[in-house]
Amino acid sequence: MDNTKHYDVIVLGAGPAGLTAGIYLSRARLKTLIVSEGVAGGQMVLTHEIANYPGVESISGYQLANIMKKQAKSFGCEIRSNISIARIELKGSIKSVELSGGEVFTSDAVLLTSGGRSRTIGANGEDLFKGKGISYCATCDGDFFTDKRIYVVGGGNSALEEAVSLTKYASKVTIIHQFDHFQAFEHAIDEARKNPKIDFIMESSVVSFNGDEKLESIDIKNLTTGKTERHLTDGVFVFIGYVPNTEFVKDMVETNQWGEIVVKPDMSTSLAGVFAAGDSIAKRYRQVTTAVGDGTVAALAASAYINELKKESRD
Ligand SMILES: Cc1cc2nc3c(=O)[nH]c(=O)nc-3n(C[C@H](O)[C@H](O)[C@H](O)COP(=O)(O)OP(=O)(O)OC[C@H]3O[C@@H](n4cnc5c(N)ncnc54)[C@H](O)[C@@H]3O)c2cc1C
Repeated sequence: MDNTKHYDVIVLGAGPAGLTAGIYLSRARLKTLIVSEGVAGGQMVLTHEIANYPGVESISGYQLANIMKKQAKSFGCEIRSNISIARIELKGSIKSVELSGGEVFTSDAVLLTSGGRSRTIGANGEDLFKGKGISYCATCDGDFFTDKRIYVVGGGNSALEEAVSLTKYASKVTIIHQFDHFQAFEHAIDEARKNPKIDFIMESSVVSFNGDEKLESIDIKNLTTGKTERHLTDGVFVFIGYVPNTEFVKDMVETNQWGEIVVKPDMSTSLAGVFAAGDSIAKRYRQVTTAVGDGTVAALAASAYINELKKESRD
């Protein structure tokens, strides 16, 4: 028995980009399915408080995710989250997605909204204190560390620029970097060096995050002497890179050297009928608002693509 179900559009990923696309596509009366390997809401659900989403003064990421999910469903969008995907086929006019359980879905267009994840240090306690003192986003969380003494881990442009931006809030920012030099533009290094609130611990790395309910201290190991010291702190920001969740499509659509999906201004990819949006695409700023904006553009472009297909089949 053929258990294939056909949709106008399948959206892969249920973060803010995918859920927004689901709202727009379903409202445009397109039969839409969102399939997500993770929980609906994506990285939003890791966020204790979102204070920079316009129109909502402050909301937990979990709540915002639930509202977006409810809104998409209210227009008829189907959502399958926490699902393992066995195989996808994006070439050709009919795309297909096969779940590990054997169910197969086909569609005329696919939106890739699988987001990404910050690179982690892998130190003891890091998983435990994520969102409880450890942050990977200065724009999102800087404000929570007003007048606190904090640490920034990393030595590239993001680490140095974000360290400077964090001095707007924190009383002191210490940059911890594993080498004796930075891998950043000269102007970013100069800015950080001349900021009186910033100091540096070089050739060192964080080996342990410690605390009870929330982060209280970190152990920093000097990589040349091997000596480890404990430093009391309320907050550590980690900027050691970003990994887009695009491994599953890297041989199917064009990606850049960092694995980010290359898109045109209408969010179309190198494959006809395949669009991408949110943190998985090549872009500089990764926020809920930018993901929502990309999701809107991708959904509108996918709608136009489907309408064109329907028109051609009528003519
Ligand atoms: C701790 C933290 C705090 C943050 N705080 C803020 C904030 O305060 N304000 C703000 O604007 N931004 C914040 N951000 C950033 C914001 O959450 C992201 O920019 C945004 O969620 C990206 O949305 P997205 O839809 O592109 O991807 P994501 O939110 O990453 O969602 C992608 C979804 O796709 C799923 N997926 C992954 N691979 C696959 C696959 N192969 N197939 C199908 N599904 C897949 C994932 O499981 C996930 O559910 C924060 C991020 C973090 C980590």
